[in-house]
Amino acid sequence: MTKAYDYDLFVIGAGSGGVRASRIAAAHGARVAVAEEYRVGGTCVIRGCVPKKLFVYASQFSEEFEDAEGYGWTVGETSFSWAKLLANKDREIDRLNGIYIRNLENSGVKIFQSRAVLKDAHTVHLVAEDRDVTADKILIATGGTPFKPASVPGIEHAITSNEAFHLDELPSHGIVVGGGYIAVEFAGIFNGLGVETTLMYRREKILRNFDEDLRDGLMEEMQKKGVDLRVNTDIASIERKGKTLIATLRDGSTIETGFIMYATGRVPNSHGLGLEELGVKLKKNGAIEVDPFSQTHVPNIYAVGDVTDRVALTPIAIREGQAFAETVFNNNPIAVDHSIIPTAVFSQPELGTVGLSEHEAREKFGDANVDVYKTSFRPMKHTMTGRHEKTFMKLVVDAKTDKVLGVHMMGSGSGETIQTVGIAVTFGATKKQFDQTVAVHPTAAEELVTLKQKWAPPAAKAAD
Ligand code: FAD
Ligand code: NDP
Repeated sequence: MTKAYDYDLFVIGAGSGGVRASRIAAAHGARVAVAEEYRVGGTCVIRGCVPKKLFVYASQFSEEFEDAEGYGWTVGETSFSWAKLLANKDREIDRLNGIYIRNLENSGVKIFQSRAVLKDAHTVHLVAEDRDVTADKILIATGGTPFKPASVPGIEHAITSNEAFHLDELPSHGIVVGGGYIAVEFAGIFNGLGVETTLMYRREKILRNFDEDLRDGLMEEMQKKGVDLRVNTDIASIERKGKTLIATLRDGSTIETGFIMYATGRVPNSHGLGLEELGVKLKKNGAIEVDPFSQTHVPNIYAVGDVTDRVALTPIAIREGQAFAETVFNNNPIAVDHSIIPTAVFSQPELGTVGLSEHEAREKFGDANVDVYKTSFRPMKHTMTGRHEKTFMKLVVDAKTDKVLGVHMMGSGSGETIQTVGIAVTFGATKKQFDQTVAVHPTAAEELVTLKQKWAPPAAKAAD
């Protein structure tokens, strides 16, 4: 490293990817600085995964109170305080923010609380301090930001997940637009907290790219829980009348509501940083183009995490940050493998998924080469609560090699289970090895190692 620069590494953005890269690079002896324009910790900690999961927990109590009766409990009158939940959530986020700051400082990383932009390939301008610092290597880890379709008249009245974490009050009715992770998670949160919730998705089925059985199953279960799910529906315009918003739909009908939350994807935070001027290439959607080692077209500038739009998940941003620091500061080249990624959707009920969906497997290997095992049942807990909620599990297997290509689950604890099953799938376990694994009884997950009957589509069954 050359002392001609103030730092060996300057990281823009102290989120999941930037923090990990900063700490690992510093541990390898690099002089590191990081700039953060909002709060250290980034989207996941401040206004993403963590507060979202806290909200999911909060929203599940309403069902728990109802279910308790089947087990002999009499729950007295209950009430919910949104203000209290927000205050407690904010306190927890402040605590985590403090830990992230301390961890960076204890690693010897200098933090600048400022927006940073590039002046040239080695010069960073700190907007809040109106001064420049220089660095040998630059890492762009600026994440993404919620997208709202500007073409919808009145869109300025709609909120995104950013604002949902700070609503002054919780109206009695709300609309969530979108059919991805954030839309289904927040529809479940609002519904559980007692908000009459309409989830609006522009196509036929939510969660495009997920296994069809999970898509169908979740739509059914969400509706059973009271979410007003409207597919093939979109908002044409929004109007504000005092505290009420009026959404006019494409079919001309209107809905009066307290808030409209757009969860219609996120866009990479790449514009206005001075990147294009330096020759860093961006894709059409603004994602920074990088090679497998996260290097951009300008050799000393790298990018990791959501801003590269490879897979927008925290563990991936962290891995990419770590791989970058190992590659560049420890002479240990690592390219992150994005091929098998276990993931959970914290919908209600929860989803867990890893590997190929049935559809993807059939496309890749052909119908005759794919075996499917699946089961759907009422979980033991609900035999006593009377709740008609289904748990679902599916294994997608390569018929030739017996390798388990994908596992897809819906039901309580699916996120936890898929983390463990992800180990087996990542390391190429076969269906026979799943079967050789001793079941844990009584659990729902034991079904994963006891599935015997190959599933056949109804037509094929009739022909048997
Ligand atoms: P970020 O964490 O977004 O960090 C980027 C940082 O850069 C931000 O702090 C930003 O303020 C800062 N920044 C931007 N521009 C500048 C600049 N010019 N100067 C200085 N600072 C700048 N993922 C999961 O795996 N599990 C989940 O359950 C999950 N839930 C989510 C829920 C929600 C509501 C959202 C929005 C996201 C969720 N995600 C989840 C996705 C996850 O948060 C992201 O994939 C992850 O945070 C990406 O990390 P990153 O480092 O790329 O960017
Ligand atoms: P997603 O890309 O998952 O979903 C966006 C949704 O919005 C899609 O259903 C899309 O529809 C719809 N949409 C896009 N544009 C429009 C439009 N103009 N009008 C109407 N609908 C539109 O994005 P999210 O915002 O939900 O989340 C961003 C990412 O954050 C996720 O992809 C995920 O990687 C990460 N995340 C992970 C979580 C987890 O791990 N549990 C939780 C939350 C977020 P269509 O399908 O038709 O394109």
